[in-house]
Amino acid sequence: MSTDLQSPSPRPGILDIAAYVPGKEHAPGVAKVYKLSSNETPMGASPRAIEAFQKAAGKLEIYPDGQALELREAIASVYGLNIANLMCGNGSDELLGLLCHVYLAPGDEAIITEHGFLVYKIQIMGAGATPVTVKEDDCQVTVDAILAAVTPKTKMVFLANPGNPTGTYVPVDEVRRLQAGLPKNVILVLDAAYAEYVRRNDYEAGLELVSSNPNVVMTRTFSKIHGLAALRIGWMYAPLAIIDALNRVRGPFNMNAPAIAAGAAAIRDQSFAAAAAEHNLLWLGKVTGALTSLGLRVTPSVTNFVLIHFPDVDGKRAPEADEFLTSRGFILRAVRGYGLPNALRMTIGSVEANEGVIAALTEFMGQP
Ligand SMILES: *Cc1c(COP(=O)(O)O)cnc(C)c1O
Repeated sequence: MSTDLQSPSPRPGILDIAAYVPGKEHAPGVAKVYKLSSNETPMGASPRAIEAFQKAAGKLEIYPDGQALELREAIASVYGLNIANLMCGNGSDELLGLLCHVYLAPGDEAIITEHGFLVYKIQIMGAGATPVTVKEDDCQVTVDAILAAVTPKTKMVFLANPGNPTGTYVPVDEVRRLQAGLPKNVILVLDAAYAEYVRRNDYEAGLELVSSNPNVVMTRTFSKIHGLAALRIGWMYAPLAIIDALNRVRGPFNMNAPAIAAGAAAIRDQSFAAAAAEHNLLWLGKVTGALTSLGLRVTPSVTNFVLIHFPDVDGKRAPEADEFLTSRGFILRAVRGYGLPNALRMTIGSVEANEGVIAALTEFMGQP
C-alpha cells in the first residue's frame, strides 16, 4: 500500500483483516425465530445474576471497581484459585486481544488451527504478527501438527479446547505433551469457553497446566453456560508475570459494574449451571442421534453445539439446508468462514427448538 500523506492510514496489515461476522439473528417473514447460531444457552441467566444486575442499576453514576474484586473473589472461591492469578475482561475476546497486543510484534508468528475460532486470527493480525494455520484431522486438532509448525519466530499457540465450530476436544495428556514440546518462550493459550459442558474423564480445562507452567494461560467465559453473553464477561487464569504485563495496558475500568455483580452471582449459582449442563447433555445426545439417523454426518461434540455435515448432492448442501431452516425460523450458523462450506453449526436449544430442527431436517432430507 502506498503511503498517502493526504489522509490517515492504519498500520500495515490492518486493512488485510476480515472483520468478524456474528451469527445471523433474523429470518425475514417468519413469525417465530429460534436463534441457534451463537451458542447461547436456552436456559437464560441465573435468577440471582439477574437480581444482582438489577440492583446495580441503582448506582450507575459510580465508576466500577477497576480490580473487579467481587467477581475475581467469586471465581477464586468456586475454583479454589489464587485471586492474584485471575484477570477479568469485557468478554474473553478482550483478554485474547490483550494477550496478542502485549506478547506479539511484527515478525512474530502465532499458531492457530484449521477450523479455529476466527477471533484469534483477527487479534494476531491486529498486533501486526503472522497467523500460521495448521491442518486438523477431520475436525480434530492434533498436537503433532502444531508442534511441526513451531519455528524460532513462534510466540503463541491458540488452542480452543473444546474447539469451536468443531465441538471436538484434545485430551489432557495430549495438551501436556503439547506444552512440553513448546519452547519456553511460547505462550500456550487454552481457550476453554465450553469447558463447563464437557463430560469426559480425559478432559481438563487447563487449571493444573497453568498452575505448574509459566507459559500457559487459560481463558473462560460467562457468555455460554452462565447465559450472560449480553454483559460481556470473560476471565483468565494465568501466571503472575503475564497478569502483570496485561494489567499495564488494559483499560482501567474494563469491566462494568453490572457485569461484575451479575457475574459473581452467576458463578456462585453452581446448581443453575449444573441444570444447564444436564439439559445440554441430554439433548446433545438426542440431536446427534436423530440427525445421524437421517443420514447426516455429525462431528461428535462435547459442547453445546453440533457441526452437521451435509451430503455433496445437488439441493442437499449446507447453503440449501440453511435456507430451508431459516424459512422455518431455525437460524443455524454457516461456517464457510471456518473452512467448512458444506456444514452448519447448530446450538443445542430448548426442547421446542431442538425438536423443530430435527423435524425440519427430516423434511429437508426426505425431499426428492
Ligand atoms: C463463545 C466463545 C468465546 C467467548 O467469547 P466472549 O468474548 O467471552 O463472549 C471464546 N472462545 C470461543 C472459542 C468461543 O466459542
